[in-house]
Amino acid sequence: MIEAAVLTIGDELIRGEIVDTNSASIASCLQQIGIGVKKCLTVGDDTAEIAETLEQLIGSYRIIVASGGLGPTGDDITREAVARALGRELVYNEEAAAKIEKIFTRRNIKFTTNNFRQAYFPEGAEILNNERGTAPGFKCQQDNTSIYILPGVPDEMERMLAAEVLPDLQKLNSGIRPLLLARYQVIGLGEAELEDRIKKIIKDYSSVHFSFLPRGGVIEVKLTCSPEKENLLSRAEKEIERKLSSYIFGRGDATLTGKIGKMLKNTSRTIATAESITGGLLGKRLTDRAGSSEYFAGGVISYSGESKIKLLGVPRELLATRGAVDSEVAELMARGARELLAADIGLAVTGYAGPEAVGNNVGLVFGGLAVEGRQYSVRWNLTGDRKRIRWLTSQFAFNLVRKHLLEEIT
Ligand code: ATP
Ligand code: MG
Repeated sequence: MIEAAVLTIGDELIRGEIVDTNSASIASCLQQIGIGVKKCLTVGDDTAEIAETLEQLIGSYRIIVASGGLGPTGDDITREAVARALGRELVYNEEAAAKIEKIFTRRNIKFTTNNFRQAYFPEGAEILNNERGTAPGFKCQQDNTSIYILPGVPDEMERMLAAEVLPDLQKLNSGIRPLLLARYQVIGLGEAELEDRIKKIIKDYSSVHFSFLPRGGVIEVKLTCSPEKENLLSRAEKEIERKLSSYIFGRGDATLTGKIGKMLKNTSRTIATAESITGGLLGKRLTDRAGSSEYFAGGVISYSGESKIKLLGVPRELLATRGAVDSEVAELMARGARELLAADIGLAVTGYAGPEAVGNNVGLVFGGLAVEGRQYSVRWNLTGDRKRIRWLTSQFAFNLVRKHLLEEIT
């Protein structure tokens, strides 16, 4: 397998001011075409530091993909650093300069002499087009290493990676087919529990690589293997599907709201929400999807006790004796929303998001679900800060709906 290193450049990155998403995008694109990324490094806007890092990488990897610091300002010094690492001069490229000038004229922006900095490239470099911005990227070949230098702005970088770099690498990599990949979205199991459940499969299929990516209450289970092992992968997939069954809510990029949206639509059901702890997040997430008016009847943000009483019909005495964070309150909220909005399903959430809570109960949340003639509730003990607890509440609430619909359908 051809091995690669990824280098991201920028002071903002090493100071923690922005999150390095470019490394992840580059690494996953390379991985998908069968190039193994062995190292991801980040350095600041420092000519010596960048040059030294590149020199080390050039000796060790066939491919280096770097991003950042190609702009026109004084702190954008990547081109100088690359030239230094390669022991080459920076040379002015007329054609690139004319192109940059044209972009400025077309966009009607003032062109300053600074901008000509972007028309200098290390001797022998091949220029990579930037369709979305002014900073062209470039490719240099040194000994056995191909070095690609891309702009830092993520959508410019991604575009150049897809349009210029990947096709080039595929040529280099011809004959090597991409890794095979299967992804599952799983909810309702902790990471350890999940691993325990499938540990035999992991052991039995040693040529398949299994990884777990936890993300806000959902775990992505990823299986990869070399293209020659296609049969093995599909057998492993079947076993994973059997073992995790309904904990899997979808494959690939499936989302919970997408999944329940489809299920509601297919069964011609509507849903109404009653939100205390999430303050509108359930409604927001449901309506993020186009076409949700087909199944989302609406919702009540019943944050105060009074709104739970007046809008949802929760008895005042119940709230007074049990408080707002209670299983029966959650059930009655769900029933209230269902009736108020004449929906098939009522979904409610009430809980403590913190940072402070009655009786040290941060993260105690009840979800309620109401359908014709009955309602029930579930208790969750969530951890994290306020934002995370609210997010997890929305995830588990949607999962409650999903499980309900699964049971009703089968
Ligand atoms: P510009 O012409 O905009 O200066 P550039 O190629 O010089 O482009 P940088 O100055 O390094 O790129 O970065 C521009 C912006 O792109 C940064 O302010 C940041 O918001 C974003 N960016 C840069 N590198 C990364 C990265 N690794 N991950 C995510 N965002 C990044
Ligand atoms: Mg810049």
